[in-house]
Amino acid sequence: MLEPLLCDLSVPGRVGFRFPEPDVPLAEIPENLVRQNLPLPELYEVDVVRHFTRLSQLNHSIDTGFYPLGSCTMKYNPKLNEETARLPGFAHLHPMQPIETVQGSLALMYELQEWLKEIGGFAGVTLQPAAGAQGELTGILLIRAYFEARGETQRVKILVPDSAHGTNPATSAMSGMHVIELKSDDRGNVDLQALKAECDETLAGLMLTNPNTLGLFDENVEEVIRMVHEAGGLVYGDGANMNALLGIVRPGDLGFDVLHYNLHKTFSTPHGGGGPGSGPVGVAAHLVDFLPAPVVTILEAGDEGMELPPLYGLESPPKSIGRVKSFHGHFGMMVRAYTYMRVYGKEGLRKVSEYAVLNANYLLARLRAHYHVPYDRVCMHEFVAEGRWPDAPDIHALDISKRLMDYGFHPPTNYFPLIVHESLMIEPTETESKQVLDEFAEAMIKIASEAHSEPELLKNAPQITPVGRLDEVKAAKELVLCCAVGAYNR
Ligand SMILES: *Cc1c(COP(=O)(O)O)cnc(C)c1O
Repeated sequence: MLEPLLCDLSVPGRVGFRFPEPDVPLAEIPENLVRQNLPLPELYEVDVVRHFTRLSQLNHSIDTGFYPLGSCTMKYNPKLNEETARLPGFAHLHPMQPIETVQGSLALMYELQEWLKEIGGFAGVTLQPAAGAQGELTGILLIRAYFEARGETQRVKILVPDSAHGTNPATSAMSGMHVIELKSDDRGNVDLQALKAECDETLAGLMLTNPNTLGLFDENVEEVIRMVHEAGGLVYGDGANMNALLGIVRPGDLGFDVLHYNLHKTFSTPHGGGGPGSGPVGVAAHLVDFLPAPVVTILEAGDEGMELPPLYGLESPPKSIGRVKSFHGHFGMMVRAYTYMRVYGKEGLRKVSEYAVLNANYLLARLRAHYHVPYDRVCMHEFVAEGRWPDAPDIHALDISKRLMDYGFHPPTNYFPLIVHESLMIEPTETESKQVLDEFAEAMIKIASEAHSEPELLKNAPQITPVGRLDEVKAAKELVLCCAVGAYNR
């Protein structure tokens, strides 16, 4: 099944749209601005609509199927979020409008800041960063500014555990810090001995993902934070895994000094395909003055009964590191996350995490007899299995993932975290039913058996997609939009 390309469908003379006869005088367009030999396909409107609708349905999406892409929290995105984000009062604003005319939006941002403070246990929040990775950059810049203000410029070392997401060392290095990799111990926790060896007067901080990318809650997290603090460093929390903690543990209470949230993961704003996302950053009291400018504040309090609402405004914190994003960040994502939080409420958000953890442990329990799980203990919202068997030496995690597509599932995350061989990182999220989890488990179990009995089924997968295995780098970097069949490998 190969989709025809738009240019293959072209028939000379077909027209999709006719402009009305002009009722104004025709203007001369300078010759050199008009290209004569533009090879646009000639099609009826309906051909174009069908072509693109068909193409759009070839994508796997959370609206069409299960998407257990570990670390990415591909939960269902409630459609109500889209409705609120499209309300004209939000969607048609201009960021340069006078603040008196955008009070409703500022109120929404203010409340979102307050809720994120409450959820994470922090004293201040910036909503500006465009995604988790930019939140990390912002957080490390805050740590750097904090030490500069204290005259401790020798603190240039950021420790990053070997299980970390690649963005952690990248953002630390971009901030001008020296990145030191920290080993994990054999239970998947930060290795305390390795940490101790790095605790000196050059330590700026530790970037810790908790639960970590193995889906495990660090059993020594309080000890880890205490050690960093005693050495004079600060602790950055990668909050991408907040979906395991809502209403249960507040990172600020554990001692984290700064943490980013991924609204597009935990709070259900759509992602994949490159964004936009939103990566607010929460900070403890000693970092509030350094937050990016502006933050939303209350300029004049309202009265108790809200007869007179407060007057919201924008403020620059006294030692601000400056802007990290144009205007106010990705406001549409804030509206979606705000809607999500309002719908669930305090009790509901806790249930989100409880079910996310339950679902992951259920899948783990169903799969551990069939796949080796190297750090096998109660997991949080995700777990990491190995996609290899000693008696099926040719099979790799990638083959398992590609075969899953034949069963209608999106593959789990492959080859991350790096400390597990042939890793398959599985995150079901709370929005899936037991029935879907069972169907996925059955498919995984079947694939484990195929890997031994009919390995070529895995090697030749996916079979049901129009294109098979592409060169993943070239497919993105040398995009072929219109050409002969040579672009496909079958
Ligand atoms: C997704 C993720 C990030 C980066 O977040 P983006 O919003 O994709 O930039 C960082 N760390 C972990 C553990 C993640 O899962």
